[in-house]
Formats: sequence, C-alpha cells, structure tokens
Amino acid sequence: MGSTVETITVRMDEGHIDRGLIREAGDIIRSGGLVAFPTETVYGLGGNALNPLSSEKIYAAKGRPSDNPLIVHIADREALPLLVDEMPDTVGRLAERFWPGPLTMILKKSDRVPYETTGGLDTVAVRMPANRIARELIRAAGGYVAAPSANRSGRPSPTVARYVSEDLAGRVEMIIDGGDVLIGLESTIVDLTSDKPVILRPGYITRQMLEEVLAEVEEDSTLMREDSGQAPRAPGMKYRHYAPQGDLTIISGMEENVTAYINAKCMEQKRMHKRTGVIGTDETIGKYCADVCRSVGCRDDEVRIARELFRILREFDDECVDVIYAESFSDSGIGRAIMNRLLKAAGHKVVNV
Ligand code: AMP
Ligand code: MG
Repeated sequence: MGSTVETITVRMDEGHIDRGLIREAGDIIRSGGLVAFPTETVYGLGGNALNPLSSEKIYAAKGRPSDNPLIVHIADREALPLLVDEMPDTVGRLAERFWPGPLTMILKKSDRVPYETTGGLDTVAVRMPANRIARELIRAAGGYVAAPSANRSGRPSPTVARYVSEDLAGRVEMIIDGGDVLIGLESTIVDLTSDKPVILRPGYITRQMLEEVLAEVEEDSTLMREDSGQAPRAPGMKYRHYAPQGDLTIISGMEENVTAYINAKCMEQKRMHKRTGVIGTDETIGKYCADVCRSVGCRDDEVRIARELFRILREFDDECVDVIYAESFSDSGIGRAIMNRLLKAAGHKVVNV
C-alpha cells in the first residue's frame, strides 16, 4: 500500500470521551479501514480482527511480515468465548486480576478468527486494554480489534501520537491522539496453550505478579539471549525490533567503567565525524560528553524507565544520531521487559567493561 489514504488526526482526552468521534472511528474499522488509537501500553493500529482483509491492510500499513500474528483487543470479558476454542480455568483467574490491563493471553483459536489475523497459527492472542478511549473504540468497532503497535515494522513502538503520524500518515484513515501513554512498553504475553504457562514477551505484568495467580510460570528461553539456538515462540520476537536508526550498543559494568568507556568511544566517534548519543540515568547523565545525552530517569525507577525508553530511542532519530551507547539496567521485575526491548533494539550488542 502506498501513501494514498487521507489521514484525519483527532485529539481526545481519556476523561472526556467524544461519542461522535468514537462512532466515526468505529465505523471506519467496521467498514474495513484502519484507526490508530492510544492504549495504556503503546499506540495501537486497529482494524477489524474478524475481517481477513483488515488484517492484510494492517500488515501492509506496518510493512510487517504476515507470519507475525496480531493481538486481538476486546473491551468486555463476554467477548472472549467467540474467539477461542478452549478456555482453561487459568484464563478466568488471570482476567479477574489483570484485565483490563497490559496482559495478553495466547489461547486456541475458534473458527471465527481468520488465519490472516493469527499469522497462520491455530492460536490467538487476546488482550483487554484499560485505556477508556481504546475500549470505547473497540465497542464501537464491533468488539474485536486487531491492533499491533502503531509503528512501521522494526521501529520503536510509539508512545506519543506524533510518532504514529510520522510512521503511518497516509496509511490509516484516522489517528486518535490521546496524549502520552501510561506504561510505554508493550503488554506481557503469556501462552496458556501448553501444560505450563509460558511468558513469550515480558512486560509491565511481571513473572512474580503472574505467579501470585498461577502456581508456576516459565519464561521462553529466547527472551534475553539471541544465541539459544531456538526459534522464539512468539513469532514476532524473532524480528529486528524497536531499533533506532543509529547504531546502538549496551555498555554494562561498574558505573565509573561504563561512563569512562562511553566517553572514550564518543570521542573516537566524533573524530570520525559521527554524531553520538547516550542513554544514561539521572545519576550519570551529567558525566557524558556525547552530542545528545538523554536520561531515562533515576536508575531505581523502573516504571519511569519503561515509559521513557521508546520515546528516547525515537528522539535519537529526530536528532540524526549515528552511534548510541546505552547503560544497562537491572533485569528483574519490569526491568526484564526493559532489558528485553533494549537488547533487541541493540541487536544484542553488549560490551562488558
Ligand atoms: P505487537 O502487535 O507489535 O504488540 O506484537 C504482537 C506480538 O504478539 C508479536 O511478537 C507476536 O509474535 C505475538 N503474538 C501474537 N499472536 C500470537 C500467537 N498466537 N502466538 C504467539 N505469539 C503471538
Ligand atoms: Mg510491535
């Protein structure tokens, strides 16, 4: 699909839902069009999940490989049975605790879900977002909205509408600008189709939180390493992802070693006329000599780091940075999701100093 569609951008506040606009947006999706909208995780690119042509349009607009399945978004628990063939009792418990919210469950799909939506798989990914604009839109659109992150494939997921527009203007009928998102990283994905629940993508809902509801939860072995020799069970996780245009490397080690190494590297790059960038923390950012220095916040504030990360990766593109060095973060709790995204964005390039 070329840049042929006229894109309307509308502003909406989660506290003041504009019914007329929601109806208009819902009608676009019902009639096979695409609407980008805010969720609490990142912005989504929505189409009718039960219409194979809508899913094909989503893949085309994103430039996404069509074997990378889409998450189906629902607004009400009652909508779930139509999508799935089997309902393990874990679903009810997880939904009770985490829905609406940033948790996606993988379940056996029913015949109503087209293979175009699931990338050819017999399973379907389902989530109920918490954002009110998202839920009102899903209802207005008929109840089932396939919505991957609203970025061109491979780029960092958009956490503000400006970046949706940068990637998708001319490719979607409407963008609903609902301001900054709350969480900033995509949902946790948990696969409930095998004996034990398995986390396929870490997110704001951590393994520890899931284990409070489910006895035992495993983690897909490919999440934090690229050389495990196995294909990831969430097909999308095998693709290069979240990447800024500049070349990103993670530098890990004691703080003094990290700042010294990064500064030496920046000097070296500057001599080669490269524009340099650093992702640091409030504790360290003043120590760096890069052209563009960005702090993700305090090192201990995982929630804020999660919220800042993708926006900062995008800002390096705005600033035309060639080479980026990032500090490494704790990988426990939400840090697991942060490091999973950062490692992917860096193509797993890590230097230990
Ligand atoms: P995004 O839509 O950009 O948030 O990415 C959705 C992620 O969910 C991708 O990594 C997909 O591979 C994963 N996913 C969606 N459906 C399934 C499924 N049925 N089985 C496993 N992973 C899935
Ligand atoms: Mg995505």
